[in-house]
Amino acid sequence: MNIYCDNYAACNAMLVDRTAEQARVKGWHIWSGQVMGGDVRTVVLCPRCVDQGRRGLPAAPLVLEGQLELDL
Ligand SMILES: [Zn+2]
Repeated sequence: MNIYCDNYAACNAMLVDRTAEQARVKGWHIWSGQVMGGDVRTVVLCPRCVDQGRRGLPAAPLVLEGQLELDL
């Protein structure tokens, strides 16, 4: 079974003749579930598309304002 990323038009990511488990081992994220309307949907994202969402998050600051030290 060929697996295509949901953003295939932008990233051109696909796997030829692989199962969902083999794709997950390679870092693909595949979810199946029921949406609010009752339909069952499957979302398939390649590793590059998954990482794009994470890169958009700002890096956590080392020390937060008002942060207190723990006294152990
Ligand atoms: Zn992709």
